[in-house]
Amino acid sequence: MVSNAPARLTVLSGPSGVGKGTVVAEVRRRHPDVWVSVSATTRRPRPGEVDGVHYHFVEPAEFDRLIATDGLLEWAEYAGNRYGTPMAPVRERLAAGSPALLEIELQGARQVRARAPEAQLVFLAPPSWAELVSRLAGRGSEPAAVQEARLAIAQAELDAAGEFDVVVVNDDVARAADELVGLLTAPSPGLVPG
Ligand code: 5GP
Repeated sequence: MVSNAPARLTVLSGPSGVGKGTVVAEVRRRHPDVWVSVSATTRRPRPGEVDGVHYHFVEPAEFDRLIATDGLLEWAEYAGNRYGTPMAPVRERLAAGSPALLEIELQGARQVRARAPEAQLVFLAPPSWAELVSRLAGRGSEPAAVQEARLAIAQAELDAAGEFDVVVVNDDVARAADELVGLLTAPSPGLVPG
């Protein structure tokens, strides 16, 4: 840990199926001190998902209210549902001098860049496109049309890697998680004393 590192907002993004959720779960397991934002979503919970832990599962009207009151740092519609980052907890973390990690899709990452240019954007890349397709197909819990929509989004998202500050390749979950944690606390290049 770098004790004098500035508090910073780090955004992990990347294509659907690349394993963002798995890498973040590994970060939580290995580094329980790392704070990860809990998003609001209008999606229904999947088996095993817990309200307030994996997501805040909200009705569309509540999501509308969050948008109208500027309660979200960013939000996006993705495969028919809306997802957003509650603003207040992130603000509190950064104000307390502690790093914050968001795991979001690309449209949201772009909004964070526009709203908080100092944020560090990390792109999680698959070892190969073939690997990504097989991971998306293997998910299996969703109808084919939903999987196809995710694949189309993933293709466009892969092309976006160049917009990010850092690319982490998810060749090994534990290794990728450690690399990400290192990025959370490392001073940004511009702040390293000469
Ligand atoms: P899933 O439905 O598989 O949990 O998530 C679908 C996508 O939504 C994933 O790519 C995930 O990273 C993204 N996502 C989760 N929370 C947020 C959020 O708060 N904002 C945005 N923009 N995307 C999110």
